[in-house]
Amino acid sequence: KEERIVVLETENAFLHLKLAEYQGLAGRSTNEILQLYAAHDQQMKFQRSSVLTQLHGAIEKRLKQDLKSLHSFALELSKDFQRQSKTCLYQVVAAVQGIQLQNEAMQMFQIKAFDLEQSLQEVTERYKKEKQKRKALHNSLIELRGNIRVHCRIRPLLPFDDAAGHSQDRQINFSEKVAYAADDETVLVKSSRPGHASVNKTFQFERVYNDLESQDAVFADVSPLLTSLLDGYNVCIMAYGQTGSGKTHTMLGPQLEGNLALAIEEDSELGIIPRATQEVFRLISEKPPGSYWVEVSVVEVYNNEIFDLLAKDSCGKVFGIKRDVVTTREGKSDVPLLTHETVENASEFLHLVNKSLQLRVTHPTLVHAHSSRSHLVVTLTITTVFGDNFGTLWEDEQTSQRLNKEASFTFPQKMRDNKSTSSSRASSPVQLEATEKMKQVKTRLQLVDLAGSECVGMSGVTGAALRETSFINRSLSALADVLGAIAEQRAHVPYRNSKLTHLLQDSIGGDAKLLVMLCISPGQKYLTESMQSLGFGTRARQVQRGQVKKRNFPVLSKGK
Ligand code: ADP
Ligand code: MG
Repeated sequence: KEERIVVLETENAFLHLKLAEYQGLAGRSTNEILQLYAAHDQQMKFQRSSVLTQLHGAIEKRLKQDLKSLHSFALELSKDFQRQSKTCLYQVVAAVQGIQLQNEAMQMFQIKAFDLEQSLQEVTERYKKEKQKRKALHNSLIELRGNIRVHCRIRPLLPFDDAAGHSQDRQINFSEKVAYAADDETVLVKSSRPGHASVNKTFQFERVYNDLESQDAVFADVSPLLTSLLDGYNVCIMAYGQTGSGKTHTMLGPQLEGNLALAIEEDSELGIIPRATQEVFRLISEKPPGSYWVEVSVVEVYNNEIFDLLAKDSCGKVFGIKRDVVTTREGKSDVPLLTHETVENASEFLHLVNKSLQLRVTHPTLVHAHSSRSHLVVTLTITTVFGDNFGTLWEDEQTSQRLNKEASFTFPQKMRDNKSTSSSRASSPVQLEATEKMKQVKTRLQLVDLAGSECVGMSGVTGAALRETSFINRSLSALADVLGAIAEQRAHVPYRNSKLTHLLQDSIGGDAKLLVMLCISPGQKYLTESMQSLGFGTRARQVQRGQVKKRNFPVLSKGK
C-alpha cells in the first residue's frame, strides 16, 4: 500500500507537472489569440479607413465636378436672366410708350366725340326746324292741291259690258267706249248715237287714271294724304260712281264673295283701304314707340241707318247693330257705342274688315250681280299722345295751338273701362295712366266705298230696292249739298241732312283733306251715269277753285 501510495504520489506529481506545463501552454496560446485579435482588429480598421478615404476621394471628386457644372449652370442662368430681363425691360418701355400714344389718341377721340356730339345737337336742332318746315310745306302743298280734290279713274271695258241690259235699242253698240282719259288730267266723253244729241265734252280733274293704270299708281297719289293724317289732319277718301264702275275694286281690291282673301294673296291688286292702312302703320313705325295707336270701326249706311259691322253679340259673333250719329258739345260728329277695335298691324286690320264685309247688304240689280246698295265707311282713328315723356310731337306753333285746342286732357271712358276690347290690348293707354300731364289728339282717316250713284230707271228696280235707291240718291244729294255749301262758304253746311254726311262731317270741310275718287265705266251703255258722275266730280272740285257757278247740278234722283 505504502509503495503504491509513493507511485501514485509520483504519478500525481508528474501529472501536476504536466498540467502546469499545459497551463503554461494554454496561457501562451490565449495571449497569442489576443494578439491575433488585436492584429485582426487593427487590420480591419486599416482596411475600413482606406475604403473610406477612397470613397471620400470619389465623392469629393464627384462633388467638385457637380459644383463646377452647377457653377457654370448658375452662370449661364444668370446670363440668361440678364438677357431676358433686358428684353422684358425693352418690352415694358415699348408698352409704356404705346400706352402714352394710345392715351393721346384717346384724348383726340374724346375731343372728336365731343365735336361730333355738338354737331349732332346742331343737326338735330336743324332737323327739328326742317321737320317743321316740311310739315308746313307739305300742308301748303296739299292745300294748294286743294283740301278737296277729285281724281277720276276710268276702268277697262269688261266682258259684262257687252250685255244689252234692259234697253230695247238694238242700234246701240253697248261695248263701245265713250269715256277716255285724254291725258292725266282730262277726261274726254265722245259719243254720237243716232237719234241722240252727240256728246263731245272734256272734264278736268286733279288726276285722271286710264284703264291701264294700276292700283299702285292710284295709291301713289293717295299716300301724301296719309302724311297729313299723322301731321294732325282728318282725311277722307271716298269712291263715287255707279254700280260696276270699280269703286270697290279701287277702295278694297278684287272681291271674292264679300271677302278680301284674294286681294291679300295678290298684293299688287290691293286697293286703297288696305294700302292706306299699311302706310299708316309704316309711318307710325317711324315715330317714337307708344306715341300713336290705331283703332278701327267699320260701319255701313243703309237706308239712312248706321250699322256697326264690328259689334259682337254675347257669343262673340259679329252682327250688324244699328247705331246713331250725334254731334258732341265740341261740334264733332260721334257715334255713341260704336265698336272700335285696336289694331297693331295691317293684317289684323284686314282680318277685321274681311269679317265685316261678309255682313254687307247687297242686292242684285240688273247692272251688276254684286251691286252694293249701301255706303261702307271704314274709319281709322289715330290717337296721338304728346306730353313730357314723348316730347312735343307737333313742334310747329300753329299745329300745336290748333291741336291743343282739340286735345283732351282726360282719357275717354272707354280707356279706363277694362271691358273695352281696345284697352285690354293696347299697351299705350296703360302707360298713359302713369302720367297726368299727357295730352292726346285723335285724327281720323275715313275710307268710304259709296253706294252706286245710278238712277232708278237704269237699274230697273221697284219696291224695296226702289226705296233703297231713293235713300242712296238722297244721301248722295246731301253729299253734293255739303260740298256746295262749302264751296259757297255758307255759314251753315247741311251735314245733318243725311246720316252719311253727318258721319263724315269731321273729315269734309275745314282743314280736313277730302279726296273723291270718281269711278267711271267707259261703255256707251253707261253714258248717262258717267256724265252724272263727272258732273258731280266737277262741282266737288270747284269747291276749291272758289268759282262755283250756280248752274244746274246733274239730277241724282232722276227716277223719283
Ligand atoms: P262697284 O264697286 O263700283 O260696283 P266693282 O269694284 O265691283 O264696282 O267693279 C265691277 C267689276 O269691274 C269687278 O268685277 C271688278 O273686278 C272690275 N273692275 C273694276 N275696276 C277695274 C279695273 N281698274 N281693272 C280691272 N277690273 C276692274
Ligand atoms: Mg262695290
